[in-house]
Amino acid sequence: MNEFMKLAIDEARKGVAGGHGGPFGAVIVKDGEVIASAHNMVLVNNDPSAHAEVQAIRKACEKLGKPMIPECEIYTSCEPCPMCLSAILWARIPTVYYGCTKEDAENIGFMDAFIYDVLEGKNTGTLKKIRLDRDDCLSVMDEWEHNENHGTY
Ligand SMILES: [Zn+2]
Repeated sequence: MNEFMKLAIDEARKGVAGGHGGPFGAVIVKDGEVIASAHNMVLVNNDPSAHAEVQAIRKACEKLGKPMIPECEIYTSCEPCPMCLSAILWARIPTVYYGCTKEDAENIGFMDAFIYDVLEGKNTGTLKKIRLDRDDCLSVMDEWEHNENHGTY
């Protein structure tokens, strides 16, 4: 089997053994070298964003010293959820290798269909999204835009 996917599975097993979270692991690779590996830490960190892919991206970006890593690939033991897919896209990682499908995850109780419903604009009552105080919020965007020292993306 693929050596990097094997590492992703090993990470997932570490998380299961430690009771850290769901059975998910991820590995980030650059030029054939492992840059970061991680597993789901949602339960142990009390952090709903601590999915394996997000954890691995955080480690890889910290190690490489930048927020976008288009030279990397990610291997994940399961198809990324919408949050992880977004993190992968924000990190500009161009290739995702995944093992299990989201349907496999659903079969053991990890449901992300409700997120897809929101993303597709379906009004399921899951989330109230209310715009508030736009002008005041725009002022900080204006400050950023006119600050010559703001970072670049
Ligand atoms: Zn995820």
